[in-house]
Amino acid sequence: MAGRLLVLGSSGAWPGAGHACSGYVLEHAGSRVVLDLGYGTVVPLLAHLGSDAGGGVDAVVVSHAHADHMGDLHAYFRARWFGARGDPAVPVYAPPQVREQVLAADAVDGPDDGRIDRVFSWHTLPAPPYDVGPWRLESVELPHYVTNAGVRLVSDELVVAYTGDTGPSLALAELGRDADLFVVECTDYSQLAQPRKEQLHLNARTAAEAARDAGARRLLLTHFWPGVDRARTAREVAEVYDGEVLVAREGMVVGL
Ligand SMILES: [Zn+2]
Repeated sequence: MAGRLLVLGSSGAWPGAGHACSGYVLEHAGSRVVLDLGYGTVVPLLAHLGSDAGGGVDAVVVSHAHADHMGDLHAYFRARWFGARGDPAVPVYAPPQVREQVLAADAVDGPDDGRIDRVFSWHTLPAPPYDVGPWRLESVELPHYVTNAGVRLVSDELVVAYTGDTGPSLALAELGRDADLFVVECTDYSQLAQPRKEQLHLNARTAAEAARDAGARRLLLTHFWPGVDRARTAREVAEVYDGEVLVAREGMVVGL
């Protein structure tokens, strides 16, 4: 096994009963990268790290500034600030609005004195590729309500791609091209009694088309609207996409 992906949370928009929001830990070649830290993800993250101070994270990548993808980044900031002040800053790769949201969450403790920037070093997404440990971190803006960076992590051995939140886009086929694992949001509003417009999220069909068009080897469906029948979603996806279909759940470990 060259690496693994741990699912911290799989719920979209808000946490469901027993479900945290988006968050993943990607471990490979001695490196640990966190992808998103939505509501409810910092507790299983700290448990996984075995560190109240959140030690052992090499980088955090945040797709966009919606709280279901970054609400616990402020909790992680506090773990570092109170638990490991003075340690080297943790690199955070994210759209600029993410830093603004963490700053706003921390404003109750007084004006900006740079503490956010002592705990985290900020790197803008989307952007030209960065070197992050064994990975080349590529990014592309995908259609969503706010700036959302789809990310593609490429090492000598593995390709892992992650949409964050997105509507249907031709860019998804390139983002997930031949990926060993394509982590794709599947909010799947289409199951709701009163389906909402889905231009800026995916459903079973559009998620499956993205994975199929990318030629991804495996697909991890995630970011389900609370109440969605995930098994039904997976069945509908399998009608369009021939590769292995995985359904995210809290605590799941996907070997890579
Ligand atoms: Zn979003």
